[in-house]
Amino acid sequence: MTKSEGKIAIIIGSGFGGLSLGIRLQSLGFHTTIVEKLDGPGGRAYMRKANGFTFDMGPTVITVPHFIEELFALQRGQPMLDAPDFPADILGEGKRITSGISGGPATSNYVKLVPILPFYRIYFDDGSYFDYDGDPSNTREQIKRLAPQDLDGYERFHIDAKAVFDRGFVQLGYTYFGDVGTMLRVLPDLLRLDAVRTLFSFTSKYFSSDKLRQVFSFEPLLVGGSPLNVPAIYAMIHFVEKTWGIHFAMGGTGALINALVRKFEALGGRIRYNSEVAMINVERRGMKKIATGLHLKNGIHMSADLVVSNADYANTYMRLIAPQHRLFQSDIRVKLTRQSMSLLVIYFGFRADGLKLDLRHHNIILGPRYEGLLRDIFDRKVLSKDFSQYLHIPTLTDPSLAPDGHHAAYTLIPVPNLANGADWSKLGEPLVNDVLTFLEQRGYIPELQQRLVYKSYITPDYFDGTLNSWLGNAFGPEPVLTQSAFFRPHNRSEDIHNLYLVGAGTQPGGGTPSVMMSAKMTARLIAQDFAVHH
Ligand SMILES: Cc1cc2nc3c(=O)[nH]c(=O)nc-3n(C[C@H](O)[C@H](O)[C@H](O)COP(=O)(O)OP(=O)(O)OC[C@H]3O[C@@H](n4cnc5c(N)ncnc54)[C@H](O)[C@@H]3O)c2cc1C
Repeated sequence: MTKSEGKIAIIIGSGFGGLSLGIRLQSLGFHTTIVEKLDGPGGRAYMRKANGFTFDMGPTVITVPHFIEELFALQRGQPMLDAPDFPADILGEGKRITSGISGGPATSNYVKLVPILPFYRIYFDDGSYFDYDGDPSNTREQIKRLAPQDLDGYERFHIDAKAVFDRGFVQLGYTYFGDVGTMLRVLPDLLRLDAVRTLFSFTSKYFSSDKLRQVFSFEPLLVGGSPLNVPAIYAMIHFVEKTWGIHFAMGGTGALINALVRKFEALGGRIRYNSEVAMINVERRGMKKIATGLHLKNGIHMSADLVVSNADYANTYMRLIAPQHRLFQSDIRVKLTRQSMSLLVIYFGFRADGLKLDLRHHNIILGPRYEGLLRDIFDRKVLSKDFSQYLHIPTLTDPSLAPDGHHAAYTLIPVPNLANGADWSKLGEPLVNDVLTFLEQRGYIPELQQRLVYKSYITPDYFDGTLNSWLGNAFGPEPVLTQSAFFRPHNRSEDIHNLYLVGAGTQPGGGTPSVMMSAKMTARLIAQDFAVHH
C-alpha cells in the first residue's frame, strides 16, 4: 500500500506541463483533477478555429519525441519514473529521423508526428538565407555559400556545443536543484565548458560572420531568452534539434494536446474547463503551512491532498496565495524577477490559387538589426520600428488546416513585456499592418493584402489578461543564469507543504521539452513525498 492510494491531486492549468503531470500522477495512483480557466486545453498551446482555418496559437516546433512517447506509454500503476531518462537507443546520430512517422508506437496510437525538413529557413535582411537541417554536411555547404572563412569555426563549435549538450542536457537535464549545494557541484563543469558566458559571445568565438553568429544563437528566442543574456548552456538547443529532429503533429500541436487529454482521461483523470482558481487554501498546522485545496472564482470549493500550479509562477504566488502565507517566495522576489519578453502573434489565412510561395514550414525572418533589437526588447523595453519574426506555414505540411485552396499561417514578433506600461490597444493594429505589408512588399507572400481572408492577433495583453501571466510574459521568468537551476522557482514549494509547481516558470525552464521534463521532476518529488513506489 502506498500513500498515493485514494489521494486527491488538483492541478491548476492544462498547459503542456499540467497535462504531462496529470498523466504522471494518474500513473502513480492519484485521483487527479485539472482545473482550467479557459474553455479548452493547452494554455499557450490552445487551438483557435475560425472560418474553416485551424491555428495553433503557440508552440509549433516539436522536439525530443521520446519525451512524448514516455507519456503515452504510461499505465496506471506503472509510472516508470526509475527508467533511464535517455535510454541508450535514443542517443546518437543514428536515431535522427528525417522521413516517415516520427512518434513511437504508443504516440502513434493517439497522434501522428512527422519530421520537418529543413528545420528552419533563416532569412537575412539582404534576402539571402540559410537552410538549417541539423545535418553537418548540409550545414557545411550552407556555410560555404555564406561565409566560407567560418568553416573551421563551425567544426570547433560543433565539438564544443556537443560537449555542452552531453553534460548540460543528457547528464544534468533532469537534476532538481532543490538546494544551493547541487548548484555548486555542477558549477565547475559549466565553467570548464565555458557555458556561463552569454550564448552570443560563445557563438562569436567561433564565427566571424554576423549572419552565422545569428544562425547559431537565435534559438533561445523560442523559449523566451535573449541570445545576448542567456548562458551558453543554451547552445544545447542546437544539439537537441540536431539529435532528435524537429517534428509536427498532423492536425497541429492542438492535436497533440487533445491526444494528451485523451490519455489523461483514459487513465481516469478529469478536467474541468471554465474553472478559474481564485485562491489556493492554506492551513496552518503548528509551524507548518499546508495546501489543502482551492476555491474557484465561481464559488466552488475543492479539497485536495496536494495542489500543483501549472499557472504562471508569479501569478500563483501574488494572486492565488494570501499574503500571510507567502514567505520566501515573497513579493520582493517576484519584483526582482526579470520576466521574459512578450509577443505579438498574427494568425492569418490567405488564398493560395496561382501563388508561388518560396517559403518553408518554419521561417525565421531577421530584421536589419540583431543585437540592437534584442537590447530594445529585453533590456531597454522599447518597441522598435524594425522587427524580426518567425513565420509558420503549417499548411505546407498539413493542408487540412485550411479550406481547400488556402494557407493558414501565423507570424510571431518578439516585443517587450508590459513592464514598460505600453498601451497595446493602440500599438497592436499599426504593428500588425506594418508586418503584413512587410511580408507582401519583400515578396515573402506576394499580394498578401488582396489574398487575405482571415486575420486576428494577440498582444502582451492576451498573455496578461487571458493566460494570467505576470507582466504579459510569454515564457515565464527570463532564462538568464541568475534565474536558472537553483535560482529558478522550485518545483516543490519551499514554504507551503503539499504545494508544487510545474511548467515553463519552474525548473528546468520554458519550451515544450523542458516543460515535459519539469512534469517528470515534479512527479518524482511528489512520489518521494507521498512514499509512492515507482
Ligand atoms: C506563441 C508561442 C510560440 C511558442 N513556440 C514554441 C515552440 O515552437 N516550441 C516549443 O517547444 N515551445 C514554444 N513555446 C513555448 C511553449 O509554448 C511553452 O513553454 C509551454 O507551452 C508552456 O506550457 P506550461 O504548461 O508551462 O504553461 P501554459 O501553456 O501557459 O499553461 C498554463 C495554464 O494555466 C491556466 N491558468 C492560469 N491561471 C489559472 C487560474 N487562476 N485558474 C485556472 N487555470 C489557470 C492557463 O489558462 C493555461 O491554460 C511557444 C510559446 C508561445 C507563446
